[in-house]
Amino acid sequence: MPRTLVAGGAGLIGSHLCEYLLKKGHEVVCMDNLLTGSMDNIAQIKSDKFTFVEHDVTGPVQVAGKIDFIFHLASPASPIDYLKLPIETMKVGAWGTFNLLELAKAKDSTFLLASTSEVYGDPEIHPQEESYWGNVNPIGPRAVYDEAKRFAEAITMAYHRYYSVKIRISRIFNTFGPRMRLNDGRVVPNFACQALTGKPLTIYGDGQQTRSFCYVSDLVEGLFRLMMSDETTPVNVGNPSEMSILEFAKRINEMTGNRAGIVYEELPIDDPKLRRPNIAKAKRLLDWEPIVSLQDGLALTLEWFKAQVKSDPR
Ligand code: UDP
Repeated sequence: MPRTLVAGGAGLIGSHLCEYLLKKGHEVVCMDNLLTGSMDNIAQIKSDKFTFVEHDVTGPVQVAGKIDFIFHLASPASPIDYLKLPIETMKVGAWGTFNLLELAKAKDSTFLLASTSEVYGDPEIHPQEESYWGNVNPIGPRAVYDEAKRFAEAITMAYHRYYSVKIRISRIFNTFGPRMRLNDGRVVPNFACQALTGKPLTIYGDGQQTRSFCYVSDLVEGLFRLMMSDETTPVNVGNPSEMSILEFAKRINEMTGNRAGIVYEELPIDDPKLRRPNIAKAKRLLDWEPIVSLQDGLALTLEWFKAQVKSDPR
């Protein structure tokens, strides 16, 4: 039976991945410092093949016994979280990645880094393909996340080149689904909560900026396939169906029957204008592409937010 460590396993993607791995017959060690993750996300997992360890991977990471696979998903991931937690974000991207690579080296594990579309910054190439080096402002407020992940990619490649550690690098695009925090500040929870409580949706800027949203189960499938492949260069994992934030807001208002409309607020600094993954590489190497439509994914997510809003009305 494979034994797999999921760092950041109590977060949105991590918790869904833990469940997926258990179904695939893995023994799972879930590690999280619960800074932005939550025990609520994993409380439903009842399996003697599942262990939770509360630990911050910015300190040395020790796990007894063998570890075949390590998924490094530990990091604040929402812009308002990483603006509130800039040093923690840089530490987990840098020291956290270093510590988990050391563990991979010691245990001969395969290590998968959750990198991000943010390595492309405010992209000048559209859609973004893996060969693009990106356009990141290294001293802007978003840099704490973007540059930490760029450093994480560099150190991951260095461990591969220098120590022959088996590595995978996923570049994850906007992901959504049940278990996103109500107050996480990203566009999906904000719009969902606003719409479900009859408030106007807050569009930052003019709403012409685009994003491409991937449902969490598709994302998890892509990460697993990448881990099981032998590809050591970065692979985009995301949904290429792109829309403007204005279109997205209209869709949410339609789906929820919210009549409060839209209000416009200031655009955050360095907010990328366009974002859409080119997933040709994932299709070719992993035989993977998203299968959940935005409509179906949003219906499931809104259902979940409805229950959250009921128990925590704001
Ligand atoms: N956004 C918005 N209203 C909100 C939250 C976000 O218009 O209440 C915009 C944000 O400026 C960005 C896009 O929606 O252009 C996606 O933002 P999010 O924070 O979800 O993630 P990002 O893709 O920027 O990391």
